[in-house]
Amino acid sequence: MSRHRNVRGYNYDEDFEDDDVYGQSVEDDYCISPSTAAQFIYSRRDKPATFAEPLEEEYGYEGADDTADYFASNHQLTEVDRARLNSCLDQMREVLAESVPEQTMVQAVLDSKFDVQKALDLVLSQGSKKNVKTKNENAVIVGNTTKVGQVSEEQNMVPTPVKKSSKTKPQIDVKAELEKRQGGKQLLNLVVIGHVDAGKSTLMGHLLYLLGNVNKRTMHKYEQESKKAGKASFAYAWVLDETGEERERGVTMDVGMTKFETKTKIITLMDAPGHKDFIPNMITGAAQADVAILVVDASRGEFEAGFETGGQTREHGLLVRSLGVTQLAVAVNKMDQVDWQQERFQEITNKLSQFLKQAGFKESDVAYIPTSGLGGENLVTRGQSSDLTQWYKGNCLLEQIDSFKPPQRSVDKPFRLCVADVFKDQGSGFCVTGKIEAGYIQVGERLLAMPPNETCTAKGITLHDEPVDWAAAGDHVSLTLTGMDIIKINVGSVFCDPKEPIKVCTRFRARVLIFNTEVPITKGFPVLLHYQTVSEPATIRRLLSVLHKNTGEVTKKKPKFLTKGQNAEIELQTQRPVALELYKDFKELGRFMLRYSGSTIAAGVVTEKHCFWGYEEKR
Ligand code: GDP
Repeated sequence: MSRHRNVRGYNYDEDFEDDDVYGQSVEDDYCISPSTAAQFIYSRRDKPATFAEPLEEEYGYEGADDTADYFASNHQLTEVDRARLNSCLDQMREVLAESVPEQTMVQAVLDSKFDVQKALDLVLSQGSKKNVKTKNENAVIVGNTTKVGQVSEEQNMVPTPVKKSSKTKPQIDVKAELEKRQGGKQLLNLVVIGHVDAGKSTLMGHLLYLLGNVNKRTMHKYEQESKKAGKASFAYAWVLDETGEERERGVTMDVGMTKFETKTKIITLMDAPGHKDFIPNMITGAAQADVAILVVDASRGEFEAGFETGGQTREHGLLVRSLGVTQLAVAVNKMDQVDWQQERFQEITNKLSQFLKQAGFKESDVAYIPTSGLGGENLVTRGQSSDLTQWYKGNCLLEQIDSFKPPQRSVDKPFRLCVADVFKDQGSGFCVTGKIEAGYIQVGERLLAMPPNETCTAKGITLHDEPVDWAAAGDHVSLTLTGMDIIKINVGSVFCDPKEPIKVCTRFRARVLIFNTEVPITKGFPVLLHYQTVSEPATIRRLLSVLHKNTGEVTKKKPKFLTKGQNAEIELQTQRPVALELYKDFKELGRFMLRYSGSTIAAGVVTEKHCFWGYEEKR
């Protein structure tokens, strides 16, 4: 059975009940073995990065300003013909937008002896075989959501193709530019996680202070203010906990963001909230991270409280791993409270390493560092106290951060950015922030936002508060957008290349790993679906099969319920369209988590989705 089908008049259930055939197609599509927790989870370093090639290589020439000129000179055209050619191309672009390679258009113009109408006919007759879109047809995709039926079946159901973008404007050599950028320093997104009060904000605030990122006057101000508020011990935490409410409550609620440098890296730091109520915010931070620091409180009883059921240590560990983070530095913090005892450090690392291994972290990718966030020891220089130096010879926290391996950047894929924040700019337009998950963007490019399925222009790009001309996968950027109303964009909207758009869906199939859950998961189970920066109510629509943990084979079809530790294939239904991708195409946008009643019950990857252009589902 073909999975390429039209949306209207289509009987879903008929197809979805067809387990055998469907199972087959999933097998075809699915590229990871679900045998263990680790295999469910994407490793950003699995494959070496590949990059878009420069235009010269693509067209096999150097130095030409644009394709038309190149072909014109190749055909030895006169100045007049050259002008006629350019005029014809302009008219053709009006109709075809950028759906046809320039070289095809040039050839058609030359073949039709500068007759635009004939040239268009030529291109379109060739194109009908190749799915050429005219601007009006494009409008079906990007603008007019009521005409979904006009979209060909293939366009509608085929997963977004993962291929090199065919931008006609001069392309930049992203790989070379990335290497040159920032004086050769690699960019790394770091999230700080851990149980509430473990000392995350203090640790990172103090680190920033010691690095000179907070000036003495500001620090003095924080000290005075925190003393006045009767919370002197929170002075360093105030460097990061910027909102008044956070200070009042003494907990980090939002994901604060700041930047600092190590010897070889520029770090974007996200200090994620540790409080249970704020886990969705924490997921927003973790979803954008390449690496993580897990902070645990070494004090007697406190480590245990954070690590036992109900504490956030375990859940945060599982969450960041599920979100694709593979490298972890564990700051065993407040070591001053236990007199820098080696035994206590050992006891904690033993317990944690067992758990982290189960969660899917490789032992060699986890480092344990004894620290005191309050005292500032072992943060940016190795600790001096003999209590520590007599048994610890390893890295200080900053050295550990510097030695993280840089993440893979999916620069060669179509552009994708999941919105983490939206705000009004001073000038025209508005701004969105988020991490570029795939591809790259240049100032002036058109972007499609899904939802709301509308296009806009990227008028400006800001990276680390500096305006830049381009940015690429892995960068945490702010985009200034024009040509769209701010109210249309929400956290979780995905900006993408209009030529290779993401397809939203309200129903998809997934392979999941069930975490600790007291209640068995049954058909109709309501959950909160978390992916990237999105949190969306969803229902488990069907339990398709239980899978063998090691082989991934179906051990039971249509189970009545799922329990702790099981691998399974399920079908999920959301109320509103969600911009998820197949895991095999875009790992970053194909992973998700399910939460129920305040705790995370499963992590999964999308294997199959039912797509719609726009809001067809709303009918
Ligand atoms: P967060 O909730 O994890 O961000 O924790 P905070 O940074 O807000 O710290 C919670 C409390 O622990 C504050 O009173 C801090 O002063 C205290 N604290 C943080 N780090 C240390 C440390 O290394 N040693 C001691 N003794 N107290 C600390």
